[in-house]
Formats: sequence, C-alpha cells, structure tokens
Amino acid sequence: MTDKGNTPQTAAGWAARAAALTIEGRAYIDGRYVPAVAGETFPCINPATGTVLTEVAHCQAADVDLAVRAARREFEQGSWARTPPKARKLVLRRFAELMEANREELALLETLDMGKPISDSLNVDLRSAPNCIAWYGEAIDKIYDEVAPTGPAELGLITREPIGVVGAVVPWNFPLIMACWKIGPALAAGNSVVLKPSEKSPLTAIRIAALATEAGLPAGVLNVVPGFGQTTGQALALHMDVDVLAFTGSTRTGKLMLNYSGQSNMKRVYLECGGKSANIVLADVGDLDRAATAAAWAIFFNQGEVCTAGSRLLVHESIREPFLDKVIAVGRSLKLGDPLDPATQVGAIVDDLQLNTVLGYIAKGRAEGATLALGGGRQRADSGGYFVEPTVFSGVTADMTIAREEIFGPVLSAMTFTDVAEAVRIANDTIYGLAASVWTRDVSTAHRVSRALRAGSVWVNCYDGGDMTVPFGGYKQSGNGRDKSLHALDKYTELKATWFDLS
Ligand code: NAD
Repeated sequence: MTDKGNTPQTAAGWAARAAALTIEGRAYIDGRYVPAVAGETFPCINPATGTVLTEVAHCQAADVDLAVRAARREFEQGSWARTPPKARKLVLRRFAELMEANREELALLETLDMGKPISDSLNVDLRSAPNCIAWYGEAIDKIYDEVAPTGPAELGLITREPIGVVGAVVPWNFPLIMACWKIGPALAAGNSVVLKPSEKSPLTAIRIAALATEAGLPAGVLNVVPGFGQTTGQALALHMDVDVLAFTGSTRTGKLMLNYSGQSNMKRVYLECGGKSANIVLADVGDLDRAATAAAWAIFFNQGEVCTAGSRLLVHESIREPFLDKVIAVGRSLKLGDPLDPATQVGAIVDDLQLNTVLGYIAKGRAEGATLALGGGRQRADSGGYFVEPTVFSGVTADMTIAREEIFGPVLSAMTFTDVAEAVRIANDTIYGLAASVWTRDVSTAHRVSRALRAGSVWVNCYDGGDMTVPFGGYKQSGNGRDKSLHALDKYTELKATWFDLS
C-alpha cells in the first residue's frame, strides 16, 4: 500500500491518518515479521501525549541469534553479496522508491514515535533517507578496484570485498536517517545487516524492512531487532558471528561497543558519537540577521536533539548584545506545539527521561551562575507530552557544565571571546570533535580558523551544511570512521591484495 496523496494540511488531518494506521511492532527476521522468541514486548510511547502507540517486540539474545544466522546464511550463499553491483543498484533504487511512495506514512510514524514536527519529518527525514539509499545504489556500480604499480613479471590486484554480517545500532533522534546511513552503504557493498533501532523510536526501521523485501532484497539480508541497549544491543555487539559493529549514539555507549568487541571476536567497531559543537561568530560576520537565524536553528531544530547541534555559541564581544538579541528573538518566535500540526517548528522531547535530563541541565546552568536569557521551562504539560521551550543561557563560561556536556535538548550556551585565537581555543576545549562553524567575511580568516578547528565537519558562513557527497563523523571522542559519501564504504569492505607471479 502506498500513500494516496492529499497530504493533510492540519493537525486534525494528520491525527485522522494516525488513527487509521496499523502500526507494526514485531521484529523482522529472515524476511518476515515475527514476535520475540520469549514473547516479550515493551510499550512504544508517543512523546507528544505520553500515550502508548503500540507494543514492540523485545528481542533478546535468542532473537538476535536468529537474525545473525539468517544474515550469515545469505552472506555465505551469496544471494546478495555475489549479486552483480548493477543488479544490487536496481534493488536499492527500488527500495528508495518504495520509501518515497510511502513517505507520508513513514513521516507520520517518525513524528508519532519521536515527537519531531511533521513538516520536518516530511521535508527533512523523508527526503534525506530515501536519497541516501538511492545514492549508495547509484554509486555501487561506478566504483573500480585498483591495480598495483608492479613490474612486468607481477600483477597486484587490490580489491574490495563485503565483510559479512554488519550489526547496526542506531539512536532515536533521526531514526530513519541514521538507519539509512548504515544500511545504505552496508547493503550497497554486499553485506548482510542486522539493525537494532533505539527502543525510543523503533517504528520506521521496522516498517522499512518489509519495503526492502518488496524491493527485491533476499530474505535474511536485512533484519530488524527492536529492543533495549543492555539486552538487544549488547547481544548483537557481543555476537561472535557479527563482523562489523556500526554504531551511532552517545560517547558513553560507544566506549562500551569497543569493550564488547574486545570481549568477543574483535569485530570492527565504527562509532558516530556525541558532540558539543561551537558556532563561532566573528566581528566581521556581515549579515547579523542571517547568522543569528542560523545560530538559533542550529540549536532549536529537532528540539536540539541533534548530534551536531550548535550548542555553544561563541560571539565576538563587540557584537554580543545585538547578536544575542536577534538569536533570542528567533528562538522566541518559533512555534512550539503539537508535532502533528504542519505549522509546528519545535515538537516534543523524545521521552520523559530525556525531558528530565534537559531540565536538569537547565537547573544546573542557573545554579552555576549562567544567565537565563530565554525560556528554561517545560511546556504543554497538560498534553501529557514532554515539551521544553527554546532556551538561551548567556554569560556562560567554559568551565560550566552546560558548556562542557552534551545536553541534547533546545538549550543554547552563549559565550564571548575577544580574539580569533581565543575563539579557536574555546571551540577546541572539549572532549568532542564532531562539528564546528565559523562566520566571517574574511576568506583568509575563514581558512585559518577552519583548519585550526578539530572537528570532522566545519561549516563556513552556514550551519549544518552538506549532502550525501561529503563524509560525516567525528574527531576525538565523537567517534571514528565516517558515514555518508564514498568514504562510508570503507567501513563495510575489506581490502584484499592478490599478487600474481607472471613469470
Ligand atoms: P545511546 O548511546 O543511549 O543509544 C544509542 C543506541 O545504542 C540505542 O539503540 C541504544 O538502545 C543502544 N545501546 C544503549 N546502551 C547499550 C549497550 N549497553 N549495549 C548495546 N547497545 C546499547 O544514545 P541515544 O540517546 O540513543 O542517542 C543520542 C546520542 O547519539 C547523542 O550523544 C548524539 O550526539 C548521538 N548521535 C550521534 C550522531 C553522529 O552521527 N555522530 C548522530 C545522531 C546521534
């Protein structure tokens, strides 16, 4: 079944669609939906209302083992791994087309499940995720292997091969996009995948597994095992027959992943972890309105639940007041509300745990002496949902908790600096290295600062720019390896050297 068109234009229209939805909560193993072996389920909560959407299968070691076995069997049989790249391309393109054809249903599931505004689900997540799958499908029959520069009596081939079974463990903030950043390149390269979505937002991952089968992916090549970190995630990470662990989530869990690998089969571990990104606005920024609007969206988009959120705003002291006033004005103007309302710009925080984490950081910011310049409170509590208003702290110093720890909510920590060297020093004074941005009209300064920033993504005169063509990932404790672009294929392929003696 695909979307029938007539995109709802009101919250009531989307609510009617939601009421008519049949939500699948079972695991997807070996080409079909199945309950967990032990029959356990957990409730999936709508964070905008606090009500239960559906029960979801709680997969444990036995379920993970079934999924890994199916994935391994298909890999060994070569039903996908040995399919020619141009045929794999067609399946992935069809998979992307089916996601497009079902984009309204998928966007609705994403919004119901994690609380993001429906307009963002439609226009960001459901554009980006199918594009990712199609992009890797298109790429895979255009990549050539290498011939080594040998003498005439030898031939050296350097070829890439799929690795085997990829265990993908992903977070809840962009459930579908994060899943596609893993399964796109992993499948394109010919691997089998066992995907564990976050317990906080498993619904779209569960749904797209069937679309992949419908697109022609052999049963067992893509499996989805919903459940919790310490049960499902750990079972997958410790499994002796998983070859690669592709993880996105917190730095704390990322470190556990490295341990799990050491405790089991030394599986390759690729980590995309947390961030505390600096958005540096120099005195010669030029258009203050444009930069201030970008600074506000850098922290308030997706309720601040973004790994690259521009959570530290570093403003030159000479423009501090006018700039902050503008950022605050944008924050104040954003429409917080029912995520199903197409006009909503700030939706619900993913669950009550995260709500309390964010409110706890706001309390800490106040206690440590930062000035609360905007927001700071819970909103719409009578809806039963978990909403936090856009919040700005000024007068933040580099030693404060809200300047050092990832909040993962709509909370901006604004600081000042007096010269470029100080800005770079503050920006780099963090355990993280995911992203950073600099605003200046001076091209030399832009180059100097972007080189000096220790981050995997640096944006100049914009925030969060980029598309599938550029790699994404972190320095330092923000992770290793890269998602997106052709570089992501490095994580999912082995390099083989084959040497021929031609004499
Ligand atoms: P998390 O680390 O709590 O969970 C991530 C995933 O790991 C979930 O599926 C979870 O169930 C699983 N998990 C948790 N504990 C586990 C364990 N002990 N063993 C195995 N699996 C376990 O992170 P989260 O709260 O879901 O996501 C937010 C974090 O993700 C933030 O730190 C954010 O910066 C980061 N993130 C990073 C990127 C990136 O590309 N660098 C993108 C999005 C989010």
